[in-house]
Formats: sequence, structure tokens, C-alpha cells
Amino acid sequence: MPSIVQITHRGEDRIRRGHPWIYRADIQEVDAMPGDTVVVLGPRQRRLGEALFSDRSQIALRLLTRGETQADAALWRERLARALAFRERLQIDSTAYRLVHADADLLPSLIVDRYGEYLVVQTLSQGTDRLLPQIAEWLQDLVHPAGILARNDPKVRLLEGLEQKVEVLRGSVPERIAVVENGIRYEVDPRHGQKTGLFLDQRENRRAALQYAHGRLLDAFSYNGAFALTLAPRCREVVALDISEDAVERITANASANGVANVTASAANVFDELRHFERTNERFETIVLDPPAFAKNKAAVDKAMSGYKDINLRALRILSPGGTLVTCSCSYNIDESLFFDIVQDAAADAHVSVTVLEKRMQARDHPVLLGVPETYYLKCLILRRVE
Ligand code: SAH
Repeated sequence: MPSIVQITHRGEDRIRRGHPWIYRADIQEVDAMPGDTVVVLGPRQRRLGEALFSDRSQIALRLLTRGETQADAALWRERLARALAFRERLQIDSTAYRLVHADADLLPSLIVDRYGEYLVVQTLSQGTDRLLPQIAEWLQDLVHPAGILARNDPKVRLLEGLEQKVEVLRGSVPERIAVVENGIRYEVDPRHGQKTGLFLDQRENRRAALQYAHGRLLDAFSYNGAFALTLAPRCREVVALDISEDAVERITANASANGVANVTASAANVFDELRHFERTNERFETIVLDPPAFAKNKAAVDKAMSGYKDINLRALRILSPGGTLVTCSCSYNIDESLFFDIVQDAAADAHVSVTVLEKRMQARDHPVLLGVPETYYLKCLILRRVE
């Protein structure tokens, strides 16, 4: 007997409108175990499709198929194969990129990133976690990696009642993996680095920013220096800042490994440092603001807005006229139009005129699924301070 979950009218409406998630409040009856792939029934027993079931998360169901289609092994394999084929066609200028971007590949709560010969996998719900052994087998079969690491320590797993663990599933995975992105070589630590090691979603924005970079560059929130190193060839001098000492060490090591001599990295709080630059009359011709997500949830939106406003206002003040500001937000809870408003506010307060050169988002290997706003999280504006 298949496991079954029956949902409410409201849940059914949501599915009809195209969203693949059903919240707990819209669950009527459950005859299923945590992590089961279940048949979803509407309030009048109509079969709506199959989904991954979680008994802990607010997201109780993640739809895999609609109508009569079965979410069997063949379907999983086919979707994985399609996700991989799509990435191959993109001709990404990097040996590190995202192979599977969860809902946007119709593989909810599954992330797969490629770092050279190795894969790093995250299973972020009870459903995909249960399937992890099979997922590893399918990936081994389809990609033939030298090793597969499960980087299952993101906090969201706690919401699913899942433990945080990092383990090698296939082959072996070294402590450091060398990858090349936009011609720059990085040493990636897949076990401890942020996300799965690198911020792969910014690759195309770094490349785009290169077209406008010039003069003295400030790369605030630099992490491993990816913006700094990509833009350095076009800039006279590069100042990279990150609050973490580890990050500063990595920036310096990456700069020297790539023979980039004009980058200076220091440990600093960007909020304080921008004020300091303002007071001491330092000026930059290019500034990159790529902060961590200030709004991790709805409750944090107000505080986050003032954080984004503050850094953008101060950056615009110390940006020379004719200079370029690359400003990003990866908070899903601050949507594109709100982010635009915040930056516009900052420009008004700074009494500067700003033009928009490019309105960008996360890289193409992290696609946005229409109708699922949660999949559109990274905004990146490339601006020019005219006066
Ligand atoms: N720009 C990077 C990604 C940045 S991630 C890239 O392209 O890969 C955000 C970084 O901001 C993290 O490395 C974190 O250590 C740093 N950070 C967080 N708060 C900070 C603060 N107040 N001042 C400086 N750095 C900060």
C-alpha cells in the first residue's frame, strides 16, 4: 500500500497555481512515515500527484509529480540526467558549478555541486535524505566522479529533525580541491568552506563586473577574494575586506597562487571600515558589496533593510564620480523591487546620481523556477555614480 497524505482545498489550490510546496496547515490526513514518497490526495480523494513527506518541517510536502505520474527511480534518474545535460550546454567557464539546484531542477531539497572531479551533495529534507544512498549511486553512474561528499551540515536540516553530518559517500574526497573559475585558481575546502566551498552563484556577476572595474577597488565582504581577484587585472589597487581572519588568509594565499600582486586583504567589519574611509577621505573607483544574507527570515527584514541602506549609502559616498558600484543581496526576503528601493534611498541620501548598468541575478546554473519566488534569492545591481 502506498503512503498517502490528504490535503485541504487551500493546499489543492496552491498546487493548481503551480507551487510545489504544501505547508503543514494544509494537511488533513497522514498515513505515511517521515521521509516517505507519498501519494497526495485532494479533499475529495482525487489523486493530485506524488510528493516527499516531512513530519517535522513547516513544508510538509514537496511535490515531485502531478496527476498519475509516478515518482519512481526512473523519474529521479531522468531528472538528474536532464539537470546534468543542461549544465553541460551552458559551457560554464569554470571547473566548479551547480549541477542540481533543487526545485528549479524539479528535484526539491537536493543540491549537487561539482568541484572538478568531485561532487558535493546536500539533502535538505527527510525525503531526499532517505534517498541519499540511491542519489549517490545515480550520480556515480551518470557523472563518474572521483568522490562524492555529503555536506549535510546546513542549519535547515535541523528543521527537518535531521542530524548535521559531513561524510564521504563514494571514492575519496581530498581536504582541498583546486578549481579554476574565470581564469582564477582557487583551493576549495569542501568540508568547511561556506555553502559547499565557494559562492558559485556569483560567477557570472564577477565576470560582468570586470567590464566596468577600474582604478582603486574595494571588495567588501570578500570571503576568498573571488571578486577581488577576478577584477584585479583591470584595477590599479585592490583592497579586500572580510571580518573573518580565515578568509583574509585565504584571499592572500589565492592572490599569491595566482600571481596577483595588487591585492591587500585585511580583517575588518565593513560597517566600521566604510565609516572610517569616509572620515579619512579615502576614495575608490570601484566598490563591490556582497554581504551575507542580512534577512534570514521575515522578522529580520526591517533590520536588514537598514543594514543594506547603511552600506550602500556609505559606499556611494566614498565612490568617485564615474565609479562603479556592484551591490548584491542574497536575502530571499528582500525581493528585487525592495532592494531597488533601498539602493535608490541610499543614493538620494548620499546626494548622488546613479545609473543602472546591469540588473543581474544568480548564475544560470542556479535557475529560478517561475511561480516559486523562493528560488530567486540573489540580486546584483551594477551601478555607475554619474556625479
Ligand atoms: N564576495 C564573496 C562572498 C561573500 S560571503 C564571493 O564572491 O565569493 C559574505 C562574507 O562576508 C563572508 O566571508 C563573511 O565572513 C563576511 N562578513 C560577514 N559580516 C561581515 C562584516 N560585518 N564585515 C566584513 N565581513 C563580513
